[in-house]
Amino acid sequence: MNNNKYKILIIEDEDNINNLLKALLETSGYQVISSKSCSNGQMLFASHRPDLVILDLGLPDYDGMDFLKEVRKDSLTPIIVLSARTNEKDKVDALDIGANDYVTKPFSSAELMARVRSALRISRRSIGEGKLSGVRFKSGDLEIDYDARRVFVDKTEVTLTQTEYNILAFLSKHSGKVMTYTSIIRDIWGYYDINSTKKLQVNMANIRKKLGDKPGKNNYIVNELGVGYRMCEIDE
Ligand code: CA
Repeated sequence: MNNNKYKILIIEDEDNINNLLKALLETSGYQVISSKSCSNGQMLFASHRPDLVILDLGLPDYDGMDFLKEVRKDSLTPIIVLSARTNEKDKVDALDIGANDYVTKPFSSAELMARVRSALRISRRSIGEGKLSGVRFKSGDLEIDYDARRVFVDKTEVTLTQTEYNILAFLSKHSGKVMTYTSIIRDIWGYYDINSTKKLQVNMANIRKKLGDKPGKNNYIVNELGVGYRMCEIDE
């Protein structure tokens, strides 16, 4: 695939990481612009309208979270947060403010590039097809027919409860993006109580068992521990 049309903005103050990212992305054929501060990043964002942003949180002038809030006021451009902050609350906050993904430093190049491809795929799909209703979701052997509310693995129908189906459909409509526990619970049950997380975990365990997900395998749904779940897009 030719990626040349995609422009990626890197906002990262550490020279070695900034240079590494630039080299990685350019090798894959992306156009790259980069900034070492939040305010300069905002200017570049406004003037270049990149297709994707890779954002560090600890920046010399402002916090990357400020950039995220500012951009999300009027733009859906995918943003991958790249940060040394490892605690779950920071991840959840960034995702809830509107980051598409969160990668912790030190990161693996292959993993980061997979996240980049995934974030660009989401944005291309939402521009190209608008709403997903009336279409089918496909990831590897998994297929979801949204109109009929039916799910198939390897062409065999999988029987899910209404709640299980709703969770799976919600994750698939945001595939590639980590959905926090809170965002899933709000969408599925509409409210949050002390049993919500447990309820979600039980449903998730059943869904994953029915889909045939096994620990350590290339699975459809990944549990980002303490943060949320991500539906993966597995290529044919
Ligand atoms: Ca930094």
